[in-house]
Amino acid sequence: MYPRLVMDRKKLKGNLDAVAHITKDEGGCDSMMIVTKCLCADPVISRMIAEHPMVDFMADSRVQNLASYCEMAHENLKKTCLLRIPMHCEVEEVVKYVDLSFNSELSTIRLLNEAAAKAGKTHSILLMIDMGDLREGIFFKNEDTIMETVEEILGMSNIELYGIGVNLTCYGAIIPKADNLGGLAAIAKKIEDRFGIKLKMVSGGNSSSIYLAEKKELPEGITNLRLGESFLLGNDTAYLTKLPGTVDDAIILEAQIVELKEKPSIPIGEVGVDAFGEKPEYEDRGIIKRAIIAVGKQDTDLGGMIPLDEKIDILGGSSDHTLLDVTKSDKEYKVGDVVSFKLEYGAVLKLATSKYVEKAYI
Ligand SMILES: *Cc1c(COP(=O)(O)O)cnc(C)c1O
Repeated sequence: MYPRLVMDRKKLKGNLDAVAHITKDEGGCDSMMIVTKCLCADPVISRMIAEHPMVDFMADSRVQNLASYCEMAHENLKKTCLLRIPMHCEVEEVVKYVDLSFNSELSTIRLLNEAAAKAGKTHSILLMIDMGDLREGIFFKNEDTIMETVEEILGMSNIELYGIGVNLTCYGAIIPKADNLGGLAAIAKKIEDRFGIKLKMVSGGNSSSIYLAEKKELPEGITNLRLGESFLLGNDTAYLTKLPGTVDDAIILEAQIVELKEKPSIPIGEVGVDAFGEKPEYEDRGIIKRAIIAVGKQDTDLGGMIPLDEKIDILGGSSDHTLLDVTKSDKEYKVGDVVSFKLEYGAVLKLATSKYVEKAYI
């Protein structure tokens, strides 16, 4: 059935080998997390990740996804990590399914401590520090708050302070560098000196930090990276380069043509707004060969689709339809043919989430 998201296990395994080599051998990290949220913790790909010897943690932003790998009950199952700071309402599930959760709010950590006590467990947390990207974390300039928070955590009976971490290039698009990551490592050192403890992890960010590992420039003291997009698509997301040893076509969308007709390129009549309330603009290409494929904005992000046939242009679309200009293609397309696309992160995320899109593996 189409549309389908085709995941190539051999290529994804190659990407995983490449990012693991960069992170650990070149970057000197002692642990690596692979992030499964973009594929909604797809069971086949999660199993491949679980079996990889250089992966230490499987990480996701949703507890449901982490619970699904626990159900795989695989003997090589890695430790699980929850990336999104938990909601108060989910602390019991977090303690049940997650080995390490990211946190920045004492009220939540107190509830985790109570839930862990009730379950007779010790729950590990990573305290998030905001180094300027302004998403989650205690702001790095508020060092007193950081130290007071650490002090209270260290007094909790059922919480282990596993380490500290930062997230960058998400909200504020701030690029990881020697200053902000070096600053994180310096805060880790201050915590260790002040409380006489050793942190097991200083997590230096996501796929936007891997370029530093590749250049062997990860600041001293950064011991972990968390990688999603670099593994799936081979991207260094700081400077948008391709990482050596990776490919960008391990995940492909295939969609089927449901209509193919020659029509004008400019709509006829008074122009109002499109199905999403926007005023469209059109380029006059004369009479063109227009193909409609059965996939749309409900399933994907049209701007994040790159046709493998380079002579196809995406004209636009609506919830359930995408319109292609196939006039210049060397192939004589017909109704029923399948068109394939490489994908950007946002498009993969939506396709993996859509129940209308089949998942296939090669
Ligand atoms: C999503 C996420 C990641 C992975 O990001 P990529 O850019 O896909 O590598 C890492 N850390 C946190 C906290 C995240 O939310």
